[in-house]
Amino acid sequence: MDRTTATGAARAVSLLLAVALSAPMLWAQTAIKLPKNRYTPAQDVELGKEAAAEVKRQYPIIADERIAGYLRTLGDRLVAAAPSDLNQPVYEYSFTPVNLKEINAFALPGGPMFVHRGMFDAAASEGEVAGVMAHELSHVLLRHGTANVSKAQNPWLQLGQVAGALGGAVVGGAAGSAIAQGSQFGLGTLLLKYSRDFEKQADLLGVQILARAGYDPRALARMFETIERESRSSGGGGPQWLSSHPDPGNRTQYIEREAASLTVSNPADDRGFTAVKSAFASQPPAKSMADLARASAGEGGGGPATVGTPGQPVPPPSAQYQTINGGGVFQADVPANWTALRSASAIKVVPQNGYGQLEGRTVFSHGVEFGISRASSRDLRTATDAWLGAVAQNNPELRAAGTQTAVRLSQRSAIRTPLVNPSPLGGQERVDVYTTFLADGTLFYCLTIVPERDAAAFDDAFQRVAQSIRLTEAR
Ligand SMILES: [Zn+2]
Repeated sequence: MDRTTATGAARAVSLLLAVALSAPMLWAQTAIKLPKNRYTPAQDVELGKEAAAEVKRQYPIIADERIAGYLRTLGDRLVAAAPSDLNQPVYEYSFTPVNLKEINAFALPGGPMFVHRGMFDAAASEGEVAGVMAHELSHVLLRHGTANVSKAQNPWLQLGQVAGALGGAVVGGAAGSAIAQGSQFGLGTLLLKYSRDFEKQADLLGVQILARAGYDPRALARMFETIERESRSSGGGGPQWLSSHPDPGNRTQYIEREAASLTVSNPADDRGFTAVKSAFASQPPAKSMADLARASAGEGGGGPATVGTPGQPVPPPSAQYQTINGGGVFQADVPANWTALRSASAIKVVPQNGYGQLEGRTVFSHGVEFGISRASSRDLRTATDAWLGAVAQNNPELRAAGTQTAVRLSQRSAIRTPLVNPSPLGGQERVDVYTTFLADGTLFYCLTIVPERDAAAFDDAFQRVAQSIRLTEAR
């Protein structure tokens, strides 16, 4: 760690003060722990990039160069003050202002950071904004996002799925699935909700970075106090920031104690702060997250866009097949003219015009969906029925269409459940669900969906897809 100079000076000052005041000031800066991580820094970058692209599609990004340039300069200054042993050369930092009201900022693995306008509005000084950014940068440097994923023993958490989940989670959109709502894992909570231990580590490293970048590190404590205050005045809902960054307790206290062990570098030039505040004033009014969620729900949420237009004719399944891979969990053969759409815990594969917007709703009328869900029981019938019950909550007219039968799926015991449901295109649709257990007891499902009137054209394809499923999870 190349902190020797600052540490040495801090120690000398602390010793002098300790002798002079007999006060408990004999701290060196806290050593920071890098948690266990199954991913490589390059994978952090890949994940963060994909999620950032999703954020940029859905968030009101501020392009004004006075604001964007200011934030970039501030971010670069903090990165330059980051400990070199944590600052991986592969990281690709970016600092993007967004025109959102809520006091929030978030950083994605590998470097992309987004700062809400609300953060600037609430901050009394550049140091306070820099404080929150230094905290976020610390999550990147300590790789807390992928460390969270490393802790979770979930077979679905493979790279592609994680990126999709992270994008969806950050954006907070609706899942957009007509039927599989019951199977959502809430991965967002897992990825961006840091533990109290990670929070404290990010605070302490953030404070060290702030001091080296030339800011009074106590500014971070001031900003947290503002966030707390806003949280109380907004009636308990609280700023979004607090929901992903829980207060470890005694924040002001340990930040001030850490600050006392540090020497602040030459003060940063913070004259740009006033100018940037007036640049914000020339922007269109800030949107709220609620505005965004409404817009996002109308577009099918964080999920993939559309495959054509529902209601338009759906071409028959091709006689050619392609193999798709589901996050190290399964492979299956699907008609070559179908398109795979990946979301947090499921993959849909749909023909043209089989998934998209119809009269303001996202509809899934034709195709297959593979997914996993927590099992409520070790008994397959019981677990299947519980999962179907959850699905039915979002699809109240879903009905059994015959008896469940025992089948084989990838050489394992499985259950096939035939169902009917009103089709979003009118008439009834046929839904067949196949369920089996993965090695860790997670429920795996494959469902096929088609309107009654098109069923004859799709039956063979659905059978072939189900027969082709190969569960490939490590056992
Ligand atoms: Zn945090």
